[in-house]
Amino acid sequence: MVTQYKNLINGEMVETGEWLDVVNPANEEVIGQVPSCDADDLDRAVAAARAAFKTWKNTSHEERQAACMAISAAIKENADELYRLLTSEQGKPHAQAKGEIFGAAGISKAQSTLKLEDVISEDSDTRLSRTRRVPVGVVGGIVPWNFPLMMAIQKIVPALMSGCTIVLKPSPFTPLTTLRVAELIADKVPAGTVNIITGEDALGPMITGHPDIDKITFTGSTETGKKIMEGASSDLKRITLELGGNDASIVLPDADPKKVAEQLFWSSFQNAGQVCIAAKRVYIHEDIYDELSAALAEYAAQVKVGDGSQQGTGVGPIQNKKQYERVLELIEDAKDNGYKFLTGGDKDPSGTGYYVPITILDNPPEDARIVAEEQFGPVMPLMKFSSEEEVIERANNSEYGLAGAVWTADTDKGVEIAERLETGTVWVNEFMHLSPFAPFGGHKQSGFGAEYGLDGMKEFTYPQVITIKKDNVVA
Ligand code: NAD
Repeated sequence: MVTQYKNLINGEMVETGEWLDVVNPANEEVIGQVPSCDADDLDRAVAAARAAFKTWKNTSHEERQAACMAISAAIKENADELYRLLTSEQGKPHAQAKGEIFGAAGISKAQSTLKLEDVISEDSDTRLSRTRRVPVGVVGGIVPWNFPLMMAIQKIVPALMSGCTIVLKPSPFTPLTTLRVAELIADKVPAGTVNIITGEDALGPMITGHPDIDKITFTGSTETGKKIMEGASSDLKRITLELGGNDASIVLPDADPKKVAEQLFWSSFQNAGQVCIAAKRVYIHEDIYDELSAALAEYAAQVKVGDGSQQGTGVGPIQNKKQYERVLELIEDAKDNGYKFLTGGDKDPSGTGYYVPITILDNPPEDARIVAEEQFGPVMPLMKFSSEEEVIERANNSEYGLAGAVWTADTDKGVEIAERLETGTVWVNEFMHLSPFAPFGGHKQSGFGAEYGLDGMKEFTYPQVITIKKDNVVA
C-alpha cells in the first residue's frame, strides 16, 4: 500500500474519503495518494481560515515572523527527506530539488523580515493623513507542478506576514512535498491560519468562486489565469497572477562563446526547461553563432538525461504525461517542417518515464511553433541576429513579458538593451536569480500584479487612509 498524505485543515491532518494517485514521472509508478476534496471540504477549510483571521489579523509583526521562521526551520531541518520526496514526485534531479527545498526555507526567512509601515501622506497645519495597510482576509492560493514547494511557500509566507490566513491548493500532480510540510508545521502555526487541501483541477474554480475567499494568488498557465480573472470578477476578489513566459536571451557579439555556453545551457535546461523564467528563445549574434552553437551542442552531449534520483543526472523527466505529449508534439512539428536540430529530435522517446532528449534547434524561423509557443520542456531554439534593433524587436514580439537576459562583455550596453525589453525582470550576464526583496511579476500576458518584496506583500492588503482634522471643531 502506498503512503497516504493527509490535508491540513484547522490545525489537524485530515482525510476526506476519496483519494487521488500521485505518479513518479521517472518510472510512472504510483508513489502516494492524497485526498480528493469536494466543495464541502473546501467550505471547512475556508471556515477555519475565516475564524482564524479574526485573531491573526491583529497579531504583531513579531508573532507573524515567529510563525514564518518556524516554517523555515521545519523545512530546513527536514531537508534530506523533503528533497528526495520532491524528486520522486516532480522529477527534478536531487541537486536541483535540494535547491528548491533550501530556497523555500530561505524565502520564508527572508520574507518574514518584510513589514509594511504606515505612510504619512499629509502633515499640515490643518490635517494629518496616514495610510496603513490592512489584510484583505482569507486568501486562496493555487500553485503549479514545476516548483511545488517554492510556489506554495511564496504564497503562504507573505499572506501570513500581512495578517491574512490562507487556503492553499497544490497541483494534483505534485502535492506530496507540500502536504509533508503541512504535517511538519501543523502544530507550529496557529490552527486555521494555513490550510492545505488537495483535489483535481476542478477544485480550482471552486476556490476562485468561493464567496468567503477575498483574494486569489495564482501561479500557472496564462490560459488558467484568464479563467481565474473571470471567476474572481463575480465578487471582485483581489488577484495576483504569475503566468507563462517565452523569455528571450540575447547574446551580443562581444560575449565569449566558451564562457557563456554553460550558463546559457542551464538557463534553458534547469528543471528540464519547466521553468516559467527559462530562456525559451535564444538569439545569438551572427558573428559568434557558429562557435556558440557548437559549444552548446558539445556541452549538451555530456549532460545525462534520466531519473533525477540517480547520481549524475542533469536533466530529469517531464513532470506529467500531458506536458510530455505537448513537448513531443512541438518537436514533431519542428521535424515535419524540416527545421534543423543540433541535438535531440531524433531519438525514440518510448519506454517508461516521461523523458525527452535535450533538444537544441539550429536557427528555426521566428514563427515556428517551437519558437512562438511556450515549450516548457528541454528545448532550446537558437536564432541568428545581425542588428541590435532587429533583435530587440524580435524579443519583444511576444504576448508574454515575464523575463529575459542579455549576455555581453559590455555591461552598460547590456543594461541599455535590458531597459528596452518589455518584461518584468531582465538579467545582464545572469539567469533565474530572483531576490526575495524585489517585485517579481510579468508584463503583458505573463501576469497581473507581483510577488516578492514589499510590492508583493501589498497585494495581500488594502490601503486604508485615516485623516484627522487638526482643528477639532466638534470637541
Ligand atoms: P495550470 O494553469 O494548468 O495549473 C496550475 C494550477 O491551477 C494547478 O493547481 C491546477 O490544478 C489549477 N487549475 C487548473 N484549472 C483551473 C481553473 N479553471 N481554475 C482554477 N485553478 C485551476 O499550470 P501548470 O501546467 O500546473 O503549470 C505550468 C504553467 O505555469 C506554465 O505556463 C508556466 O509558465 C506557469 N508558471 C508561471 C510562473 C510564474 O511565476 N510566472 C511560475 C511557474 C509556472
